[in-house]
Amino acid sequence: MPDFTQPSEIAREAFRRLATHRTPPTPDNYRALYDEIAGTASADVFPDKTLKSLIASLPRTTAEQSRYARQVETAIGEKSWDGLKAALTEVFARIGAEPPNWAALIRDMLLQVEARHAGLTPAKKREALDHVLTASGTPDVLYNRMQSLLRTWSRAPAAGEAPELAELPAATADEATVAVAGEPPPALAGNASRANPQILELVAQLIENAIGFLLIDTPDLAKEATQLATAARAARSDEQVAAVAGQLKKFIYRLQFVAEDQAELKTALLHLLQLIIENISELVVDDQWMSGQVALVSGLVSQPLNLRRLDDVERRLKDLIFKQSTLKKSLNDAKERLKEMLATFVGRLGDFTATTGEYHDKIERCAEKVSKANDITELSDVLDEVMRETRVIQLNARRSHDELTDMKQRVEESEKEVVRLQNELSQASEMVRVDPLTGALNRKGMDEAVEREVARSRRHKGRLCVALLDIDNFKKLNDSLGHKAGDDALVHLAQVTRETIRPQDTLARYGGEEFVVVLPETHIDDAVTAMVRVQRELTKRFFLHKNEKVLITFSCGVAELIDTESPADAIARADAAMYLAKRAGKNRVVAA
Ligand code: GH3
Ligand code: MG
Ligand code: MG
Repeated sequence: MPDFTQPSEIAREAFRRLATHRTPPTPDNYRALYDEIAGTASADVFPDKTLKSLIASLPRTTAEQSRYARQVETAIGEKSWDGLKAALTEVFARIGAEPPNWAALIRDMLLQVEARHAGLTPAKKREALDHVLTASGTPDVLYNRMQSLLRTWSRAPAAGEAPELAELPAATADEATVAVAGEPPPALAGNASRANPQILELVAQLIENAIGFLLIDTPDLAKEATQLATAARAARSDEQVAAVAGQLKKFIYRLQFVAEDQAELKTALLHLLQLIIENISELVVDDQWMSGQVALVSGLVSQPLNLRRLDDVERRLKDLIFKQSTLKKSLNDAKERLKEMLATFVGRLGDFTATTGEYHDKIERCAEKVSKANDITELSDVLDEVMRETRVIQLNARRSHDELTDMKQRVEESEKEVVRLQNELSQASEMVRVDPLTGALNRKGMDEAVEREVARSRRHKGRLCVALLDIDNFKKLNDSLGHKAGDDALVHLAQVTRETIRPQDTLARYGGEEFVVVLPETHIDDAVTAMVRVQRELTKRFFLHKNEKVLITFSCGVAELIDTESPADAIARADAAMYLAKRAGKNRVVAA
């Protein structure tokens, strides 16, 4: 073999060999031949053979190992350093990475499944999880997907305090899942002698009365409930009980979907209501009274709903509708009047221009006569005519002027009328049952609230307490810090009280510095405790006057409504107990 020393010769020989060996003319092949001919070793030659044998000796027992080996082999096959680098980087990254923490993941998953998220029902979550479980090929993918699912859920806004109505079906739904997934309850799993007929009867009653009642909107399921109740009552043998248990499981499963549907329906309705309320507020931007009312209603709707709150929303909406219709009528009247006036004005203007048009014609004719006049008598005749016409036009002008002044006055009057009407209606905000200073209910509001609560508690045969509190030494506070500070102190007391009592309790301003708290479904001892809690809260949250802490205390009497007693009588007893609290040294709560 001749020796090639010149690079050009080596290059030519390399090309020749590429052609004769039918080697693909790639830069790598060319370089390999060049090095071979020149007797030089290229640092850049891709050692594919060595690498291939190396990779062949690596273990491939797991799917993951085989996958990485294949990746490395492909890179070697392509003689790609970049590919090899990418494959090895991935392997090393895996070595460095924390092993998947399945325990933590499953714990988080359970937490998030149980947590309430706005717009994510348990069924939706299960569906998403199911999809991830079936569609993820490898544990790695599964781990990653489950983590991203967790991230999505945890980022979803929490449903907060779930609406009370929604809470019931949701809880039922969760329990239903557990029941469906688990074994039949022991009472139903055993033989006939262990299936207590009393329990079966209770199950039947539960399905028929309690659950059946909730299924008004799903007649199919209601029918199934009736059949199930009948079957439960009739079940005697082991097999019959087992059959009922099986049906019950299916029933519970379907019930769960109904409950979820109902919860979603309620959320959708609530959104709709909010939308309507927002829309009203857009229509009445100009009216402060209305905006205030709309804000109140809207605030009520944005909280978790219960029947009491719905009552409140209804009453306020009625106030709104009443006010709106009155306002609309008076505005329509005012508009009608303005239209009438405008029509008269245009009419008069028409008359006026017609008269002035005639006047011009006449004056023109007179001017002609003047120019043609031959003697003074003729001129004096013309002058008389001009005078007459001018007087007529003056008269017309005055009449129009008078009429316009009159009209202006009437417009002003009707404007005043609109303002008066507005004021009157604003004063009608008395019909709003809220005390403007403290935001607590006023007397009227309290009377209504008490009446409602008494009726409700008598219906449910529940207990109801009223507490009457009177601020201690309030006159002194007024005298030393001023009336404005007194007002601020009242606002502070109302705020602390409202935030300390339960949402279903009602605070009303009974008079000057006296407040009433209505506590439904409360035993007298608990009502006393609740009021003492308010006192304690007041010692923690001082009233600040010019950055000075001022302690507000109150004396309080609590009475529990007895049988047929009127609310007024109960309040009178609470008042007497409050008086005893004052006599005993103030800043205390006394039960009537
Ligand atoms: P006691 O501890 O016995 O209740 O003494 P008191 O000073 O609180 O009771 P009193 O009934 O003698 O005085 C109540 C005072 O409350 C008198 C009145 O001026 C004041 N008051 C009533 N309504 C308001 C109000 O809306 N704002 C202010 N700043 N003061 C009010
Ligand atoms: Mg008083
Ligand atoms: Mg007082």
